[in-house]
Amino acid sequence: MVQIMEKPRHKTHTVRVRGVIVGGGAPIVVQSMTNTDTADVEKTFAQVKDLFLAGSEIVRVTVNTEEAARGVVALRERLELEGLDVPLAGCFHYNGHTLLNDVPELCEALDKYRINPGNVGFGKKRDAQFESMIEKAARHNKAVRIGVNWGSLDQELATKLMDENAARTEPWDVENVMWETLVQSALLSAQRAESVGLRKDQIILSAKVSRVQDLIAVYRTLAERSTYALHLGLTEAGMGSKGIVATALGEGILLNEGIGDTIRASLTPEPGGDRTLEVRVCKEILQALGLRSFTPEVAACPGCGRTTSTVFQELAQDIQRHLDESMPVWRKRYPGVENLKVAVMGCIVNGPGESKHADIGISLPGTGESPVAPVFIDGKKAHTLRGDNIAGEFQALVEEYVERRFGLGKSVAA
Ligand code: SF4
Repeated sequence: MVQIMEKPRHKTHTVRVRGVIVGGGAPIVVQSMTNTDTADVEKTFAQVKDLFLAGSEIVRVTVNTEEAARGVVALRERLELEGLDVPLAGCFHYNGHTLLNDVPELCEALDKYRINPGNVGFGKKRDAQFESMIEKAARHNKAVRIGVNWGSLDQELATKLMDENAARTEPWDVENVMWETLVQSALLSAQRAESVGLRKDQIILSAKVSRVQDLIAVYRTLAERSTYALHLGLTEAGMGSKGIVATALGEGILLNEGIGDTIRASLTPEPGGDRTLEVRVCKEILQALGLRSFTPEVAACPGCGRTTSTVFQELAQDIQRHLDESMPVWRKRYPGVENLKVAVMGCIVNGPGESKHADIGISLPGTGESPVAPVFIDGKKAHTLRGDNIAGEFQALVEEYVERRFGLGKSVAA
């Protein structure tokens, strides 16, 4: 018998970020980050709202200046006014200790502080500045993500581990030393945070790199050596399909091994592009792995020489758009509708078979087939559509199915 070997989730502590639970076996959380100037409260508010409504469960904002710090405080008020309960993470580099000190309301306005141990200062100052931020988080009962990044490695630690490596009889590859530095930097910083008073259930770790194989190696090691909740992200994933593929591979492989409690897709948007793409990518990764369901799925064949018309492509696109647009209302009206599976297929070769596997599916006529389109509902042929309005009639059948299956009447077996 062919079986899927399911790997158990890596056991981690449960961290509460406002109303959202990260780790401890909770559903994997989707995160995103704004790219507006946080001092511009209106622009940042608009983007936070877009990201949140697209499904981002935690939104991170840059906190790099006093104006940005005050912007976060105003942003929190603005979100409250609009009734948007968005968990906000603040991204600090270099001056976080000063900003949290100088703008005390910032400590409370944020739900999570992101601290990069490679960017909190040097020598004795580094420890004092790191500890000052951790003390604030402990006092305000906030979560902290200790996020190391290979672009801003802790240079003192890297030098120490390089020297140790040089003294080995069989030195490791430079790559291995880099991985070890990232892991140790995250773990030593977490230990230091605990020694200052942060609880394990306030700590999330991340170690971001820009290559898929590095990401996998580093996170496997982090998971082996610790039980802190883990945030997955491929840093500088890149633009377009390259960034999406690399993110899906790196994060997908780890998630499939049970590693990771929260994810982000760090995609570079096209100029003027839609920032919510990174949220959609995260949701699609989780849905494709069967870890979470967010929206009904449309299975569509790629098309080939057996169907030269674009009817099925347009229908698949229309149906997916219709489902996506209907979801905000359907989610409340039809509980469980996110598990709906729809098939739109181009010809008789795989059309009827694939359609039977979906909850509702249509097999359109390929080249040379008679111009009829059988519709299958719950595995059985239920209708045959013909004429010029096949798309409209199929959409109406999908609506009818959703009402019957997920509405209050629920007359179709679930
Ligand atoms: S279902 Fe038909 S049209 Fe679609 S890919 Fe298969 S053979 Fe081609």
